[in-house]
Amino acid sequence: MASTDSGKTYIVEHLDPELGPWSELEYICIGQDSQKTGSRFFLSSLPDEFRVPEKLSNLASFTPEKRSVEEMYPPPPQGEASSAGDVKNQVCLLDPSAKKDLSPEDGDKFGVFLFGGILGDDPPRDRTSELRKKGYEGRRLGPVQMTTDTAVRVTRMVVQEGYTLDTVPYLDHPDIKFNEHESTQMPFRYVADSDGKPIMPEGMVELIGKDADKTIDDMF
Ligand code: SAM
Repeated sequence: MASTDSGKTYIVEHLDPELGPWSELEYICIGQDSQKTGSRFFLSSLPDEFRVPEKLSNLASFTPEKRSVEEMYPPPPQGEASSAGDVKNQVCLLDPSAKKDLSPEDGDKFGVFLFGGILGDDPPRDRTSELRKKGYEGRRLGPVQMTTDTAVRVTRMVVQEGYTLDTVPYLDHPDIKFNEHESTQMPFRYVADSDGKPIMPEGMVELIGKDADKTIDDMF
């Protein structure tokens, strides 16, 4: 069973068949943030052919895993509370449909935080249900869908830095301007930085711009 000596363990169970460019930027961002904050980051359920981006494999805090989260941390037997045993091995699933919201006290209860490695979609298709059925205890990060890197960021702010969900500075559905004339609205919740701008992975604004150009080209 995996364990951590300090910080928290963040696991993203990779649920898409390949690594798309958006997910790649999100995963690199989660890895770099985990490295800076003394946490560990696992990408689990990786297919044999998965190519780990160099910017991730270079990080001491990052571990690529072919095993699924259940193999790493067997879920509690059905009907049993997950509170028995060592805190560092207790898994919390971040689940947009969970009944209870995440609170700073959950940092004392859980050592491992599990997320779906799924690109956000609008409207949300509830692919987190694939993880829900494994039987881990779930917590919600409020009612608005976040990108995976934002969900990890908010979880860390709550369980490691003591923020309550209502004190995190959010930006909902921001407009991203990628050149003088073009912008697009993102259908997600982000954390705002000290300038009031959405925190996004490095390279994401450029990628959004490229994708928008492709869509316009495809129209002609
Ligand atoms: N549309 C999605 C779905 O199909 O479930 C949401 C995917 S979201 C981009 C990726 C992951 O971030 C989710 O699997 C979940 O772990 C986490 N997440 C995002 N927003 C959340 C929220 N409001 N509450 C709890 N977890 C959230």
